[in-house]
Amino acid sequence: MSELIKPNFNIAEVPAGHDGPGFFATSLDKAVGLARKNSIWPLPFATSCCGIEFMAMMGSHYDFARFGSERLSFSPRQADLLMVMGTIAKKMAPVVKQVYEQMAEPRWVLSMGACASSGGIFDTYSVLQGIDRIIPVDVYVPGCPPRPEQVIDGILQVQKLVGNESLRRRNSPEYKEMLASYGIKVD
Ligand code: SF4
Repeated sequence: MSELIKPNFNIAEVPAGHDGPGFFATSLDKAVGLARKNSIWPLPFATSCCGIEFMAMMGSHYDFARFGSERLSFSPRQADLLMVMGTIAKKMAPVVKQVYEQMAEPRWVLSMGACASSGGIFDTYSVLQGIDRIIPVDVYVPGCPPRPEQVIDGILQVQKLVGNESLRRRNSPEYKEMLASYGIKVD
């Protein structure tokens, strides 16, 4: 293709497989993973200042849409990725857990910033010292607040997990056991 008409966007990476003249074959896991990882619908659960960095990330400068995730979901039932950003008070913890429980499988969780990940500077009786005390977390993004570039890196890590996840993982006894350890009901 001539340099002049070369498109200036990246096409999703082709998963490993076999190809020849007129055909390409790969596994179902990889095909589903490719589709899922490039169309993650995040649910932003923002309680404080980290949420502002998230808003910056959604704007045209950082342009979250480049990763196929511009469609935010404010309904847990239509979200794939729970993004928890900000201080979570102990009184708020059951709400975070309920939102997680209302999400359909497969679901992932990203903890953004020091407060969501560890309580941050709020080492007090009223603040949850990390959301992994109530729900499983897939990716942590450090910082107070993390820069939008860090959050984008976190999303890329989530995409890696999503793209490489086996379709059987969610039905495995290990996964069910892990959820049970959080007291989360398994259907
Ligand atoms: S980590 Fe820092 S910026 Fe983020 S919510 Fe906590 S205090 Fe605010």
